[in-house]
Amino acid sequence: MIKKIKNFIYKIISEDIKKKKYKKIITRFPPEPNGYLHIGHVKSIYINFKIAQDFKGICNLRFDDTNPENEKKKYIKSIKKDIKWLGFKLNKKIKYTSDYFDIYYKYAKKLIKNGLAYVDELSIKKIKKYRGTLINYGINSPFRNRNINDNLLLFKKMKQGYFKEKQMCLRAKINMKSKHIIMRDPILYRIKYSSHPKTKKKWCIYPMYDFAHCIADSIEKITHSICTLEFQNNKKLYNWILNNIQVNHYPKQYEFSKLNISYNLTSKRKINKLIKKKIIKGWNDPRLMTLSGMRKKGYTPKSIINFCKSLGISKQESIIDVNILKKYLRNELNYNSPRIMGIINPIKIVCVNINKNYIYNIKVKNHPFNKKMGKRKLIFSKEIYIDKKDTKKLYFLNKKNKIIKNKIRLKYLGIIKLKKIIKNNKNKILYLKCKFYKEEKYKNINIIHWLSKKNSIKTKIKFYSKLFNSINPNKEKKILSIVNKKSLKIKEGYVEKSILNSKYKIFQFERIGYFKLNKISFKKKVHLNKIVSLKNTNKY
Ligand code: ATP
Ligand code: MG
Repeated sequence: MIKKIKNFIYKIISEDIKKKKYKKIITRFPPEPNGYLHIGHVKSIYINFKIAQDFKGICNLRFDDTNPENEKKKYIKSIKKDIKWLGFKLNKKIKYTSDYFDIYYKYAKKLIKNGLAYVDELSIKKIKKYRGTLINYGINSPFRNRNINDNLLLFKKMKQGYFKEKQMCLRAKINMKSKHIIMRDPILYRIKYSSHPKTKKKWCIYPMYDFAHCIADSIEKITHSICTLEFQNNKKLYNWILNNIQVNHYPKQYEFSKLNISYNLTSKRKINKLIKKKIIKGWNDPRLMTLSGMRKKGYTPKSIINFCKSLGISKQESIIDVNILKKYLRNELNYNSPRIMGIINPIKIVCVNINKNYIYNIKVKNHPFNKKMGKRKLIFSKEIYIDKKDTKKLYFLNKKNKIIKNKIRLKYLGIIKLKKIIKNNKNKILYLKCKFYKEEKYKNINIIHWLSKKNSIKTKIKFYSKLFNSINPNKEKKILSIVNKKSLKIKEGYVEKSILNSKYKIFQFERIGYFKLNKISFKKKVHLNKIVSLKNTNKY
């Protein structure tokens, strides 16, 4: 049992258990299969699956498939895959709202028979208009008082495909003067002729979310129906429906705040728009915080779960700094990634005092504290690469524009001192001539990473930065106007040859960050992408 009460939902469940209200705690995660899962969904998955784990209950994965035009089998497959990737076990029987289509139809007829639902022929536009506003009451539809038998007949004909889409719908008969707009005769069923991923052409009428969700929760004996805050108002309708169809089990709905991450989008509709406009390649673009995109970029399930654990559950709306998520990612990658040398902006150093054929082997640890990762051989020879940025430590220009030469230490090796800068006739630096010293006696000099030409292979690296220039793209109406056009940069450099035979996929480039290996083309070029830098730069 839970030792520490973690948050308000855990408190409620613990109380319910103390009062012996339920034999078993049952939660659910109800995605609509109209897109891939994103980091926001993970918060909900984590809450629902973790409650089931902690209270020895069950969490149902239920596909909320009541909207056939946008729902696809490929989304169902990807959602299952992503939840398993996160490390949660799915029940043998995956649930689908469509499993209950017959039951919904029966309950809808029950409401009609009890004078609590009617078939409306108003256009969608008029239904909206007649519903009123927060200031103005709604107006009754002229079809509201149709007699019960006519309603039953029309509803049957709707099911049999006599009418066109939007020609009619079934509405609950509640109260057009309710101060809660949701209670002003909400639509329960509408006509749709698209093929459904599971029931195909069997149905042409589909229950609305509000009608379907509470009944599915009741059928599955969900004890705590946990959803995001925007459903707070729907709770009235949720309870109205359950009370009026009279069920055996009344689940209770509790709401928590959505997860928003700075500079990231968690709206399937907007992501779809970006894909259609070809701004990103697809749902698994590494610049997205979809689980498939994060997986492609190099996020690990544990880092995402640890992040969610840190969030807690509350009703406070906020935007979480993306750097918090990155902190969890770094922590895990630090532990699990072998180190290698990678040079992203290479400049060649020629060691003038080293013979052309000289090769010096050095054994270095693959990981500073994880001994299991073993050691590897580094080679030193006449020509090496260092990062252009590090040349600042090798020389600088003083006020009189005179070059001041310096020494730097090559990690694991020795010291180089600048001798000469070799330029072409356009004054572009071609390479640097240096002298190499093995002595260890110098202290307090900069240590840099390096790579021998003989030990290097070419690499092409993708660097992703924020996809949006606005901190909360979820709130942005014109999503295309805030797209960062420079969110992908590609650079060419060199990486240690040992990468070719490594069993690992993710590496730490010493002093730089974490990189993921995507492809090796013809043993000649290594394709990588940067996952995250070593330190928080407070940039994206
Ligand atoms: P989207 O706006 O991306 O389409 P949605 O809520 O319509 O999201 P669903 O497939 O219906 O997508 O979501 C399944 C579950 O995940 C719901 O219970 C929903 O409340 C929850 N969820 C969606 N987005 C978030 C989020 N940002 N933070 C926490 N939970 C979320
Ligand atoms: Mg939804």
